[in-house]
Formats: sequence, structure tokens, C-alpha cells
Amino acid sequence: MPIPRNEVAAEDKWNVDALYPTFEAWQAEFQKLCPEGKRPRWPEIATFKGRLAESVATFKQCLELILGISRKLSNLYTYAHLRHDEEITDDAHKTAMGRIVGCLHDFNEETSWFEPELLGLPETVLQTYLKAPELAEYRFHIEKIARLRPHTLTPEKEELLSLAGKALQAPSKAFSAINDADFKFPNVVDSQGKSRELSHALYGLYIRDRDRTLRKNAFEAIFGKYREFENSLCELVNGEIQSHHFHARAHRYGSCLEAALYPKNIDTAVYHALIKSVRDNIGVLHKYVKLRKKILKLDSLHFYDLYVPMVPQVDIKMSYPEAEEVVITSVAPLGSEYQNILLKGLREERWVDRYENQNKRSGAYSSGCYDSMPYILMNYKGIIKDVFTLAHEAGHSMHSYMSHRHQPYQYADYPIFLAEVASTFNEELLSRLLLQRTQDKAEKLFLINEKIEDIRGTLLRQTMFAEFELFLHQMVEQDTPLTPKLLKEFYRGLNTFYFGPDVELDPEIDVEWARIPHFYYNFYVFQYSTGISAALALAEKVTNGGEAERKAYLEFLQGGSSRYPLDILARAGVDMRTPSPVESALRKMSELVDQFESLSL
Ligand SMILES: [Zn+2]
Repeated sequence: MPIPRNEVAAEDKWNVDALYPTFEAWQAEFQKLCPEGKRPRWPEIATFKGRLAESVATFKQCLELILGISRKLSNLYTYAHLRHDEEITDDAHKTAMGRIVGCLHDFNEETSWFEPELLGLPETVLQTYLKAPELAEYRFHIEKIARLRPHTLTPEKEELLSLAGKALQAPSKAFSAINDADFKFPNVVDSQGKSRELSHALYGLYIRDRDRTLRKNAFEAIFGKYREFENSLCELVNGEIQSHHFHARAHRYGSCLEAALYPKNIDTAVYHALIKSVRDNIGVLHKYVKLRKKILKLDSLHFYDLYVPMVPQVDIKMSYPEAEEVVITSVAPLGSEYQNILLKGLREERWVDRYENQNKRSGAYSSGCYDSMPYILMNYKGIIKDVFTLAHEAGHSMHSYMSHRHQPYQYADYPIFLAEVASTFNEELLSRLLLQRTQDKAEKLFLINEKIEDIRGTLLRQTMFAEFELFLHQMVEQDTPLTPKLLKEFYRGLNTFYFGPDVELDPEIDVEWARIPHFYYNFYVFQYSTGISAALALAEKVTNGGEAERKAYLEFLQGGSSRYPLDILARAGVDMRTPSPVESALRKMSELVDQFESLSL
């Protein structure tokens, strides 16, 4: 039983008091910024409505007013959500959280006219603003909004489109209702004849279990359910893709892919380069599958044999202070300044809420805002996975810290496309250090297996999904009806190509697409693949390179959103429009497979 929150030692808790010394101080600030019952909450915002074209000075005043309120609100929000997560049953903090979330909703509503009005400014006025020295620090911020002009319709048309919004969400909502609530899976039998319950979470455990009978039965039971409902699930995917297509056409984009990537200014070439590089180097996955078959001593390798670890779980236990030490040591290649900031953050400034306590939120994350420290929530229990989690979250936190220190508020947050680069980079550094330190063969094999699985799951599997997603959209763009038969055939073709001759293509896997929520996210998954590729390529550069490579990486961390994501990466030496980062990640995987094989002989 975890201990109650009030018995947790101060040094094990994050220092949320640095943001507001007491809850009363938070309440006072809240009352000042968002007085109860007043509507609109910030009447001064509305006084600028319809006046953005008036002058540079008016425009600037409005922009700064909005950014200023947003910054203060994010302080209030950060405090409330951290306090709420410490003990989710605490009523006062739960109420505080509800109040600030309501406020943020009102803020979004009261500022919702700003972007459309900016997009509707006459071209000459917009050009004046982009050139005005008084607005120099906001130029890129304005440019990012203004580049949507060719794809923005008249206000009446945009309003009509947004009115359709709720109806267009029906497919994804229906999918999650079926998938998360309605579906009940039958019990499955293990090799001892024991009947076991089955759910999504349990499936994740069973498919990694040493008991092959359990794996097989769980696999067949899960996918049997999706096969039973393949017609409805196909219609839901179809409905979702049709809505992406509708938006793309309404906003005058050449394709669904372009519509999804243009607002982030990510070249569609990145998407195609990813798929091509993976396809050109797919031999590495075939090599891995072959090794897996050999290590597991199987005559035929099935889809339910793909997740069980090739080596027994190794008990590498570390106390939290030991984990902290190893994580801090692992970042040495980034230089002493980086290392010292992290050391001070973890040990003195108390960024981390370390252990589980009663009613604390589960899992782990890095969170904070411009004026706060980059907090980390952990539920540290001492297994090796927790040590990697600490490295991962510390990577996020250092990225936030550096971007916040080097950028003004409007450019401080890094974009989604870059979000997992710094965290994955730090996991890679940790993995390298642990491999260097251990002389134990079982430990080495375990660490290498984990790393290979990481690249397989994050880079290869997600690229296969990205390819399937592109196919779905292209079919809809060409008016080809999406049917279960078409989807299953294409998916089977992908599996055949990706896994190669050493895997038995169980018919159940043809319907796997019906189980993946990401096909409702509109071209999201490819970012997992690009993220890990960029991280591994950068780790290679920094650890093998010199001062210049290190400096370029630190500048990447300091960049926030001050440039477009591809430009920020390119300046650090990784151009995602070319095949080289993905190739470098797959080369790494190939080396790991070889290392594993020679060690296990
Ligand atoms: Zn992360």
C-alpha cells in the first residue's frame, strides 16, 4: 500500500511551491485574472475586434494582450494540474483544476476571432506588418498564421465548416466506443488448461508471455473479434478518411496528405522519404525475424511469436538516487553545462515527484510552463524500465528548459514533430552507458533486445502504418470504395513485404488495421518514425563528433518553435527530407541484431 501524500518526504516531492507559495496565493491570482461570474472575462480583448487593420501599434497591443493573458493562465493551469495529479481525490485541487480549465475554454472563445481576422487582412496591410520593425519579434509568429491564407475560405464558409465539425467526429467516437467499451473478449486458455480473462491491457501482457499456448489463444481471440465486426469497423475507417478528404477539398489542398502536413510546414517529401528508406532497407527486419526464429527455437514463427522477449527478463534494480546518478552520467556527451543544469534540476531544484503515493496519478510525464521549472511526474519503483523513463522525461524537461531560456514566450514551446527527439536521444545515451558498464552477458542481451524492439516498434511498425494510412487516403481520393476485402488484401501485402519469408502469415493479422486507433488521427503516426530516426541520427553525430556537433544539438534544444521544425532539425545536421536519418537508424538496428547474435552464440 503506498503511503499517504502528507507522509512523503519533501526531497521526494516536486517543488510546486516555487510557482505559488501556497494554494491561497494561487486562488488570489486566479481571482485577479479571472474574476468569477464576469462575462466576457477579458472585455479588453473584444475592444480590438475589427481593428487589426488599423495600425501596427494597435495590432501589436492586441497581440501582446493576448499573449500576456495566455502566459498567466498557463501558470495557473500548471500549478492546478500538478497539484491535482499529486492526489487526484483532493477536492480543493480538483475544483481548482475544473475552474482553470473552464477559464482556458473561455479564453479560447474570446480570442477565437483573432486568427480569422488576421487571415482576412488586406495583403498590403499584412506585408506592412511583416516588415514593421516594431513587430520584428513577432514576425515569424504572424507568418506561421498567415501562410494558411491560400487555404482559408470566407468567414461565412469557414463558419459553415466548423458547424459540421461535431457530426464529422462521429466515426472516431464510435470507434473508441466500440473498441474501449462495447467489445468484450472471451476468456482464453493457457498451456496448463487454466482459463484467463482477456482485455486490451491483458493482451499486451499475454502476447509477451513465455507460454506459447496462451499467446496463440489470446491472439486468435482478439483478432477473431475484429474479424467478426470487420464490416462495421471498415465503415468507420471509411467515414473518418472521408472527413479528411472533405476538409482537404474544401480548403483547396492537392491531397489529404498535403492538407495534414501543410499547416505544420512539413514537406510531403518527408513522408515519402520515410516510406522509401524503410522499404529500401527492409532486409534488416527480415534478418531480425530470422534471428528471432532461431533464438526461440521455432520451426515456424507466427505473429504471436513476435513480441515475446528473446531473452529472459533481467532484474536490474536501481534505487532512485542510483537512477539519478546514471541518468546524469549518461548525458556527459552533451557537455558540462547541460549536465550541471540537469544535476541541479534533479537534486536541488526538485523538478521530480519521485515515488508513488496514495491516489497519485499513474505513469510518468514532463510538464510545466514558460515561467515554471520543467516538472517530472514519476512513479519510480526501481526496475530498469523506470530508469529509462527518468532518462526519457529528463530529455523532455531539458528540451523545455533550454527552449524556455532562449526563446521569448511566443516561440518557447517545441512543436509535436520535434517532441520525442530529445527524450529518445537521452534514452539512447542511457542505453549506451549501461551497455558500456555491464560485463554481464544476460544484461547485455537484455538491453540490446530492448533497443531492437524499440526501433522495430517505433520506426518500422509505425512506418508500415503510415504506408497503410496513405493507401486509405489515396483510395478515397480516387473514389475507390474501401471494403474489408480491399483493406485486408493490402494489409496482408504490407505484412508479407515487411516481415519477409520467415513469418507465417496468420489470417487473423489481415484485420489488424481495424484495431489501430491511430488511423483516426489524420497522418500522425509517421512522426513516431521520424522522431526516433532523428534522435538516433543526432546521437550518432554527437557521440562520434566533436564540439561542432554538440553545439548544433544544443542549439536544436534551444530552438523551441522559433523556426519550422524541419529547419530546426536541418540546422542540427539532420535533414528529414533525405533518406539518411532513417538509414542511419536502420543501420543501428542491423548492428544491434549482429551484436545480439554473436553474443548469444
Ligand atoms: Zn515522451
